[in-house]
Amino acid sequence: MNKQMGKNNLVAIIGRPNVGKSCLFNRLVGYRQVIVDQQEGITRDRVYASVDWDRRDFAIVDTGGICFSAQGNINFCILSQAKQAVEEAELLLLVVDSKIGPVAADLEIIEFLRPFKKKIILVPNKADNSLELNSLSEFYEMGIEAIVAVSALHGLNIDDLLDLVISKLDFKEKANLEEKLGLKVAIIGRPNVGKSSFLNKILKQDRMIVDDFAGTTRDAVDTAFIFNEQEMILIDTAGIRRAKKTYRGIDIYSSSRTISAVKRADVCVLLLDAGTGILRDDMQLFKLVKDQGKCCVILINKADTVNLKLKNCLETLNLKAYFISFAFVGLCSVKFDKSMDFALKFVQAAWENSQRKISQQQLNKILKNIITNVKGKSSRENLKLHYLTQVRRNPQTFVLIVNNPAFVKTSDLRYVERELRKNDNFQGAPIKVLLKRKTKQKNVKN
Ligand code: GDP
Ligand code: GDP
Repeated sequence: MNKQMGKNNLVAIIGRPNVGKSCLFNRLVGYRQVIVDQQEGITRDRVYASVDWDRRDFAIVDTGGICFSAQGNINFCILSQAKQAVEEAELLLLVVDSKIGPVAADLEIIEFLRPFKKKIILVPNKADNSLELNSLSEFYEMGIEAIVAVSALHGLNIDDLLDLVISKLDFKEKANLEEKLGLKVAIIGRPNVGKSSFLNKILKQDRMIVDDFAGTTRDAVDTAFIFNEQEMILIDTAGIRRAKKTYRGIDIYSSSRTISAVKRADVCVLLLDAGTGILRDDMQLFKLVKDQGKCCVILINKADTVNLKLKNCLETLNLKAYFISFAFVGLCSVKFDKSMDFALKFVQAAWENSQRKISQQQLNKILKNIITNVKGKSSRENLKLHYLTQVRRNPQTFVLIVNNPAFVKTSDLRYVERELRKNDNFQGAPIKVLLKRKTKQKNVKN
């Protein structure tokens, strides 16, 4: 799954087979088929997507259904996937069939869910007309207070359901405040690479400091300032200053502080030490940033200590950590350089590139090229590439519709990414290419 979509405000769709879960999932997500995130090895019965509603963003997972034994009892072969989704979720949508009414299997599912102590909305689906939408009395007997009847097929009452979902999720007020405030930047790196020196240099450069405000944890302090008419928020500046005291001898990369800074950030500025080269710990940070789908600027600091050329650094980075080579990279000496403005310009550019919209016409052209090249290779005649489309920005997410995702190799996905980058400027911004199997439509209409 796209981890970024994952943990926070996750909503899981649960229910026995055939009640319309995938139909509802598709309706909520806004396009019709589920996406298989093959890159990250997600099996087909657990698919995630993100939903934007009323300026809020939450993630949704289709559990693929809870399976039943022949006797109709809930089976302990309950898909472990479904169970895991329930565990991870903050809110459950329990889908039932409004045309049939509550059945024993629905009640068994409620029993199964009880120990998880999750918030539940009961969603009688297939309420295709106003009468069905309003006949809820039998469902109230199931003991779940929050009920919204919908027709996933015809898109009825979906807005009401989304409103209720949003009202039940615990969106951190802070997060919404930050949205308004500006671009969130995390400064990360191993101890001693120069994070606090970098921070001090930025903040001392006659910038108007807007504010220091308490962050999500009690002792986290964020600092906001204006650069190029853009408000930027440096995340957890207190943590950076105190890092040495706090983390001596501790694996800082598993520290929740670094992880939460990266998660909250729009752009990560990752400092390396020119003198040491890329160490294992740096690799872990690259991975963290990449996995979280964040924009990235890499600063190779202490360039005064060794004689390095940027070109060589880029080659090394490409070789050792190809997956982060989308980043802007700069060589610098925080200690001796007068200004760090170039780094902030990279931050802005990376952010802009992560918002870039690429036209469908251009994507069609890119796909044509890709097809010619992939087809040129032997043993690929089984693979059919049907369509390439941009489904999301920040992180940039593209869906490639194919006849069978199993025919697609990781190298093909890389190739698609390379072609996308060749055709437009996505530097600094990660790109995800997801696969979707071209299938015949079930009875789903829009
Ligand atoms: P799942 O097994 O719970 O994921 O169910 P599906 O989404 O595959 O749907 C099962 C069947 O119910 C399909 O034939 C759908 O077309 C149908 N269905 C789903 N939603 C509705 C609805 O709102 N109204 C009606 N009449 N049929 C629906
Ligand atoms: P942090 O632990 O990542 O916050 O690193 P600091 O900013 O505290 O820097 C660690 C040490 O590296 C300090 O002694 C700095 O003076 C030194 N340092 C930082 N930037 C540079 C640089 O560009 N060149 C050199 N030679 N030393 C630097």
